[in-house]
Parts: sequence; structure tokens; C-alpha cells
Amino acid sequence: MEREGYHPGTMNWSKSLLLFLSLFMMSVCLTAVAYAQAPTSKEVDAVYPDAHALYLDLHQNPELSGHEIHTAEKLATRLRAAGYDVTEHVGGTGVVAILKNGGGPTIMLRTELDALPVEEKTGLPYASKVRAKDDAGRDVGVMHACGHDVHMAAILGTAEIMAHSKNTWHGTLILIGQPAEETIGGADGMIRDGLFTRFPKPDVAVALHVGNELPAGMASITPGVYNTNSDSIRITIYGKGGHGAAPHTTVDPIVIAARTILTLQTIVSREVKPGEMGVVTVGYIQAGTKNNIIPDHAEMGLTVRTYKQDIRKQILAAITRIAKAEAAAAGAPREPLVERYEGTVAVYNDPSLALRLKAHLEAALGKD
Ligand code: ZN
Repeated sequence: MEREGYHPGTMNWSKSLLLFLSLFMMSVCLTAVAYAQAPTSKEVDAVYPDAHALYLDLHQNPELSGHEIHTAEKLATRLRAAGYDVTEHVGGTGVVAILKNGGGPTIMLRTELDALPVEEKTGLPYASKVRAKDDAGRDVGVMHACGHDVHMAAILGTAEIMAHSKNTWHGTLILIGQPAEETIGGADGMIRDGLFTRFPKPDVAVALHVGNELPAGMASITPGVYNTNSDSIRITIYGKGGHGAAPHTTVDPIVIAARTILTLQTIVSREVKPGEMGVVTVGYIQAGTKNNIIPDHAEMGLTVRTYKQDIRKQILAAITRIAKAEAAAAGAPREPLVERYEGTVAVYNDPSLALRLKAHLEAALGKD
């Protein structure tokens, strides 16, 4: 890029980011496929308007996990136009796009499709104004708050460049649009629907994610364990409802929930061995409808993060134990329901591939 006289500082952030991500993805191809030469800034410039238009469209029209109908359609249409053999509706709204280009390795690049139930308050001219009903029937704002719109734009830019430069590489490129990443089930759905049997099986699969842990313009790549085991827990606490002025006739689930939340904070601080990684976060609590009514149940949602399997088991067991014990302490009429409704294991990056990629990224982006 610098070789070609590019000065990212003079561009708006989204263009820099897109160029950066496209370069990252192409570095992946460079590394794994026999790619003769790096794409030039001219090639990136040529595909940028298309990718940027897609980014703006997706950002303004985000869709929730498992409901990425228009998003998948838009991506599929553009990839088809770029010359890819595209299959839609893989495991729901998943997209698989294949570009065969002679013998050689099969490389898979992944983008997610879904947005989050977050109301956008950025004030940007292209901010999302979308509202939708989530799967629980709640009215929520919807936003690409996780950056999956940027990932889709970058994969489109990459797809177009790889299609334009088929004389410089050989192998098979598979691009996938993965639905329901935020709710975890999308990858599983695609695999169950034959991702690795109906389509060429990749030798390597690579994904990237924008993040705010590093200054803009920097990349990091981690050999080995990256990210954590992630478990989603829902706890429903049952009490006995009644009038707020007569609490003695009730078992207040809000008070039980409050005590449960505080006790949950002692799992990592008092039960997990110091030095071991563990996070227990209560991300939502919902109960009641009116100030003077004591409701009959309360619900809370947790995310639990760990590195090690034994610590994971220890924390999940402690959550159940504490929830039950706090309910019993309050004389709840029923044991709480503790459900682990989503979970995934930690990301493990093949160390040798990660190191090969790192070398190419350093060559393309500079050591810093
Ligand atoms: Zn994400």
C-alpha cells in the first residue's frame, strides 16, 4: 500500500478499515494459495465503491440473528455478479460462494451476516433507524454494532479482486456468509446442512473481526488459543406475586434476583483459583410491570467466559448452586430454572498458519 503511495490518514476511517480488511483477507489468500503477486492499490480502488455502497446499505438495514434474509440476498447477488458459484439458504440464511481456479488448496474465508439488538446512537448520517421484534417478541433497535457490515464489505472487495486476478493464483476460494453468529447457532446450522460435505472441504478456514482493543490501523493475530469458551445462561427465579403494599404475603423474586446477582460476583473472586481466567456477567434482568406490584418471577441472562474446561465446569456448577440456594433461602415456592441455552468452545488458531499469516501481514501492512 505504501509502496503505491497510499496514505490511509487522508481517507475516512471506513475506507481505511475496508482497505485494511481486504488486504488482510487477501494476505490470507496470498499465504495459502499460490498467489504470485500482491494486489495493488489500483485494484483495491477499483472495487472500493461497490464495497462501500454495500457497507452503507447493510449498516442502514441491519437484521437480527437468524433473520438475515435481505442481507444474505444482497451479499449473494453481488458475489454471483462477481463470478462466484453461489448457494443460498445453507443452514437457514447462510451463503456459500465458490470460485474454482485450477488445482491447489481450498481456502475458506468467513463473514458473519447478523446485527445486534442495539439502538444506534452514533448520530452518523447513515445511522441505523431500524427497529424489529426480537425472538422473544420485544421491540428492539437493531444495529451493526459488532461490525459485521464492515466484514461483509471487505469480503466483497476481496471476492472481486480475487475474481479479477485469477491469472495470479490457483486453488479454490470459498467465501461464506454465516448467519446467527451472535446467537452462536448459525455455524452449527451450516455444518449440519452440509457445509463440509456438499461443498469442497477447506484446507484452512480464516475469519477476522474488527475490534477496539488496538488503535485504528493495527492488526493482531494470535497463534493458539484466542477468545474464550462462551456460555449463555438464563435463570428464571420463581416467587409468589402480590401487592407491593403487602410484601409479607409474597415471595419477592426481585429481591431473590438481586441477592443472586451479588452472590454470583463471588464465584470468580472467591471460588476460582487466583490466576485462572473466569468472567461472570449478568447482562440483563427483567421482572415486573408496575411499581406497586410484586411479580411472580424474574429472569436474568448471563454470559460466562473461561479458557479451561475444568474452570468452565466449576463456574457453571457454582451458578446453578447459588441460584438454587438463594431461592431456597427466600422460601421460593419453586426451584429456579437455570438453562444453558448457548455455548461455544474457545477459538484455537492453528499456530503454524497463524505465523505464516503474520509474516505476510507484516510484509503487506508494515511491522507496526
Ligand atoms: Zn462480531
